[in-house]
Amino acid sequence: MKNLALLYPNKFKGGISCLAMHVLYHHLNKYKDIRCDMYFLENYSQIKNKDAIIITLQYENDYFNVVKIIEKLRINNPKAIFIGGGPCSIANPLPLSNFFDAFVIGEIEDSSIMYDLINGGRDLRGVYYPEYHGRNRKDFKKIKRIYPKKLGIEDYPIVQFTHPSGAYGKAFLLEIGRGCPRRCKFCMAKGIYYPPRFRRLEDLTYLVDEGLKYTEADKVALIAPSVGDYRHILELCQYIRENHNIPISPSSLRADTVSEELLEILDIKTLTIAPEAGSERLRNYIGKDISLEDIERALEIAKINNIDSIKLYYMVGLPTEEKEDIEGIINLSKSIKREFRRVSISINPFIPKPCTEFEKEPFNMESKNNIRYIEKSLRKCGIQVSYENFNSMVVQCVLCRGDASLGNLIREYNKPNQFLKYLKRMGLLNKYLGPLE
Ligand code: SF4
Repeated sequence: MKNLALLYPNKFKGGISCLAMHVLYHHLNKYKDIRCDMYFLENYSQIKNKDAIIITLQYENDYFNVVKIIEKLRINNPKAIFIGGGPCSIANPLPLSNFFDAFVIGEIEDSSIMYDLINGGRDLRGVYYPEYHGRNRKDFKKIKRIYPKKLGIEDYPIVQFTHPSGAYGKAFLLEIGRGCPRRCKFCMAKGIYYPPRFRRLEDLTYLVDEGLKYTEADKVALIAPSVGDYRHILELCQYIRENHNIPISPSSLRADTVSEELLEILDIKTLTIAPEAGSERLRNYIGKDISLEDIERALEIAKINNIDSIKLYYMVGLPTEEKEDIEGIINLSKSIKREFRRVSISINPFIPKPCTEFEKEPFNMESKNNIRYIEKSLRKCGIQVSYENFNSMVVQCVLCRGDASLGNLIREYNKPNQFLKYLKRMGLLNKYLGPLE
């Protein structure tokens, strides 16, 4: 019998709504000779004498926790193999390559890779062993990503743990698709989960029927990079409403997929739209493919459905950005505020992520001033403005583009600000933020 720990390297409320945690837990516990338990930042110190410790890497800023956790757990788990997985592992695990024994590069469903790895398998497809393969970018790039051609039902977690504090509340997570058919040049989800795959309608209705039998949930959360691009979305929502009479919330909707019928059936109090850029020119350039007309049409439909709250997502510092793109963000938001009671915006710097068309573009440090300028202009009009801590976004950029040499620095300067200060002091920041060859 192998004893495993499955660990989310951050707080419980994020981990419990992370579908990957449920998928892995379900997948691993289906083997009769495996026992797998879930852990989070709050209780990981209870992990002792395990055979394998699997850590899902969803966000680069968790790396500081990850390094601290692994160093502590190595002591109480001397036999354990440490395995990393998740989107950051697929995109670029190099900054953590000194700490893990292996990384799974891809999606584990429909394969026995995780099982074989835990049982000492070597030379497995889709597995990156830093010690064996090497820790350079070209060593890592040789590993071919694995993924199931179709998303089936066998590996789907019907029984999910839920908690009101979860990011989606007490929701049954229903993944309708993975990968995205759109062409946004900044989007990592598109690159690392290519090709786009949607589940069959009859599979989804089966999963929701079974899931709601065994999961304590008071809503269904639809998970996909772009929920509205599923061609049976309306039929699926109608089915859920008619058979379960339970609220349905989508993880994301593109403005050009919003329809009157869809909004009527979904449990949406605030319509979220991601124009990303303030001008039509820049939206086209970044491949967002959402026109002003699409946005206006979505807002019109929101009004018809008595939705009076709008949330907008923008980025600044995108390649080719000009002053008028910044003004465009301000003007578009103000014009929406004239029509809606509550408008809030989230604005963050563009980060050139690996596995995207913009991966070689520089990070723009001017974004900080532009965010402040936008905030100042919009707050006085009653628009709520939120953004991430700028330094933590800079750190995210460094880590997502970084190499193995960052590993020791993450360990030594175990707080993002200290880490950043060191890079600045040593004149290393531009190596990670500047344009790449
Ligand atoms: S629509 Fe969303 S998920 Fe799809 S490529 Fe664009 S940003 Fe990515």
